[in-house]
Amino acid sequence: WQRLTGGLKRTSGALGTAVADLVTKRKLDRAMLDDIEDVLLRADLGTEVSVRIADAVGKGRYDKAISADEVKDVVAIEVEKVLSPVAKPLEIDAAKQPFVILVVGVNGSGKTTTIGKLAAKFSAEGRKVMLAAGDTFRAAAIEQLKVWGERTKSPVIAGAQGSDSASLAFTALTAAKEQQRDVLLIDTAGRLQNKSELMNELEKVVRVIKKVDAAAPHAVLLVLDATVGQNALSQVEAFHRTAGVTGLVMTKLDGTARGGILVALSEKHKLPVHFIGVGEGVEDLAPFAAKDFAKAIAG
Ligand code: GDP
Repeated sequence: WQRLTGGLKRTSGALGTAVADLVTKRKLDRAMLDDIEDVLLRADLGTEVSVRIADAVGKGRYDKAISADEVKDVVAIEVEKVLSPVAKPLEIDAAKQPFVILVVGVNGSGKTTTIGKLAAKFSAEGRKVMLAAGDTFRAAAIEQLKVWGERTKSPVIAGAQGSDSASLAFTALTAAKEQQRDVLLIDTAGRLQNKSELMNELEKVVRVIKKVDAAAPHAVLLVLDATVGQNALSQVEAFHRTAGVTGLVMTKLDGTARGGILVALSEKHKLPVHFIGVGEGVEDLAPFAAKDFAKAIAG
């Protein structure tokens, strides 16, 4: 959380400075609320939330002097209201053996790294993990996953570059069942020749997984890179439509001024947010906590 607060300093710093500039030596009026709304929009919080926060700031305060801290407090409260319902831990159902987690997202969003962090976490909890290198499109992804496998002492099922990722998922799930692994984490490609091909392949992966276990995948995690800002909204739509996303992980919150996008996303899609990535290291995955995040955003 220290890293998060550090990282989000750019968001909160920008927001805090702008708010402080706005409220000095002015009484609260409609123009000031419009300005506050603009600041929130620029922090990527989205229209609905920005309007709502500005309204909440205005309530009972017209024609009175207002301090920057008062505004920040309202921001923190309103943001927390949006985030609390979506801040949910990822529950691993031990009755499912293996509990199958499909990890999706565009290239570079941090899928493979997140899988490594999750493998470390689950292993530390005493669970037997298996990894499937389903991003068969990228040789580096396969190698990266093997390194994570060694580090976390988890077997890795991998094929050659360019091999069929759906059949790899099939092989991996079959092996995970045979070897009684507790959790199977399946990586997927984030880029193919084009978007429809990517989505077709994802659909196929899900279909093939269901042939082995009709209830799987038990979780579909969408990994989103916070630095892409508003672009994250369309990524959620596309992946949700294709793969039935059950929860989000937002990465790279350690170095961006765009953490507010998580608020806009939560308002719009209301998908559970399980974890946030705050660095490249194995320990840099934190369970998502609404209150802390809201405070970090407000500054
Ligand atoms: P993939 O293509 O989705 O599998 O993405 P990768 O896992 O290969 O990650 C892409 C890059 O982002 C790598 O350089 C990672 O080290 C980096 N990365 C992943 N998560 C985080 C994070 O939370 N913070 C930072 N700063 N970098 C991250």
